[in-house]
Amino acid sequence: MEPVFREIRSRERVNQRRVLKAFQLAGVAESDLSGSTGYGYGDPGREKLEQIYATLFGTEAALVRPQIASGTHALTALLFGLLRPGDRLILGAGLPYETLQRVIWGPAAGNLSEWGVDVEVVPPADDGRIDAAAVLARVTPNTRMIMIQRSRGYEGGASHSIDELAQVSRRLKAGAPQVLLAVDNCYGEFVEIFEPTQVGFDLAAGSLIKNPGGGLAPSGGYIVGPQAAVEQVAARVTAPGIGMAVGPTLGLIRSFLQGLFLAPHVVSEALQGSVLVSWVMEALGFGVHPRWDEPRTELVQQVILGDPEAVVAFCRGIQAASPVDSRAHPVAANLPGYRDPVIMAAGTFVLGSSIELSADGPMRPPYAVYVQGGLSLGHVALALERAIAELTQRGMVPQERWRAAWDRMGSSADVGSVGRREPS
Ligand SMILES: *Cc1c(COP(=O)(O)O)cnc(C)c1O
Repeated sequence: MEPVFREIRSRERVNQRRVLKAFQLAGVAESDLSGSTGYGYGDPGREKLEQIYATLFGTEAALVRPQIASGTHALTALLFGLLRPGDRLILGAGLPYETLQRVIWGPAAGNLSEWGVDVEVVPPADDGRIDAAAVLARVTPNTRMIMIQRSRGYEGGASHSIDELAQVSRRLKAGAPQVLLAVDNCYGEFVEIFEPTQVGFDLAAGSLIKNPGGGLAPSGGYIVGPQAAVEQVAARVTAPGIGMAVGPTLGLIRSFLQGLFLAPHVVSEALQGSVLVSWVMEALGFGVHPRWDEPRTELVQQVILGDPEAVVAFCRGIQAASPVDSRAHPVAANLPGYRDPVIMAAGTFVLGSSIELSADGPMRPPYAVYVQGGLSLGHVALALERAIAELTQRGMVPQERWRAAWDRMGSSADVGSVGRREPS
């Protein structure tokens, strides 16, 4: 695993330098950290934070606000801010993340279809890559936006690297230059050394309780893109005529800035944790996507456990090894926005934060868990050890397999505590 870890840490250095430079370019000062209340007019910390995001994403403008409650909210603001009745939206990487399916087609009033936007889904090609030719074939004169989800999500598809996104944007811009290209960038920030908006995409959006909040932002979302487009989105988040000018940062600006400063390091720790989970779980005989040495463009690690009870046991192990709510017993439950019951293990300092270590899975075949986040590699190693112990106690990992994996792992210095001790 060491060469993979080294590569992740060298990307961390590049991103840390980019972030530091963007802070210095914006001229962040101690006096910017106090924040604003009420209307939040002329909040210098907020303005500099948005300038830093625009620099990092290579866009004209950014909207970064605590009033954006989640990634779904950020993406919804992007869609409703820019699409009008009669427009066509093409989802170019297949079905979107579950909560966005509700935004587009769901039973709740006010979704995008009710609004009169025509939405086309173009599945990826058989190799999992975006099918640019098929996307272009669906472009009509009314097509306003093509959106791509970078992360694999719960549909078990492939994630899309910056390299792939660069190729796709070239083809789409050549074939449909008038159409806006947008990315659901959740889980992708700082995993590679470029962001989608630096390789031809016009817009991106994501959540601050994932990568760019660095584990410190307690809420918030961002949208980056061309000035005029971001202003249109701001008119949805606040109100037309008020747009970006209003929006207090309350007491949060310090944690937004500090979290962003730490984000390259936290993402690096989480990524190394994902590699560790992949390596160990594959050694124990489970299916994993991606494999430990495959290139990564986002944090999510899928582990196919193949058994609903194993999903529950694994999640209970992660929960029991959490710093907060370690005594909680996660159970599968229906959550707003999700189709099947979902089990979620997350003993996090920020509720629902998935830059902190979390494991979750929908209760449906192939009974996979999705593991992501981790503020430190050491914690991921301890939690993985506990999750495997839960599986082993229930006879879900044969002893011989555990022993063979243990022998292999014993020789790797970077594994942390995993494998140093036999499960009880
Ligand atoms: C997490 C996520 C979302 C939604 O973000 P929430 O903060 O959970 O609302 C959307 N798309 C992808 C790919 C995600 O990972």
